[in-house]
Amino acid sequence: MNKPQDYQPDFESWPPAGTHAKTGWAADSWPATIGRGIMGRCPNCGTAPIFDGYLKVHKRCLHCAAPLGDMPSDDAPPYIAMLIVLHVLALFLVFFYRGDYHPGILMAGVLLAMLALVCMVALRMAKGAVIGIMLKLGMKREVPNG
Ligand SMILES: [Zn+2]
Repeated sequence: MNKPQDYQPDFESWPPAGTHAKTGWAADSWPATIGRGIMGRCPNCGTAPIFDGYLKVHKRCLHCAAPLGDMPSDDAPPYIAMLIVLHVLALFLVFFYRGDYHPGILMAGVLLAMLALVCMVALRMAKGAVIGIMLKLGMKREVPNG
């Protein structure tokens, strides 16, 4: 090839230069960081809560000022939550269609309410874990002019 010795286009390095600066946050081990996120605590210090409400993330950690609000969790938490919860649901569906399990209308309602509750809890835990992973990887959301 006739390319110069110092030729390094952006797409040959990952992450592309200048897109994801290492933050230096969440220096502890992966299990500790993700575990804190699952428990809804700051992945960096494990002291302050990540969430300000159900799924709203604090802009910065109230204890260590880690930039929790800049971590782009986007669509990953719902995907992870559905992946886990729907596998449990599939078990009930298999039993139902095999004829082993026939819930009454009341029990079906209870199971549906439990499914919704489990989805909500799993979503929050997955979002905490994803924020922990993003914080450790330093994958900060790009903010234009900021
Ligand atoms: Zn913190």
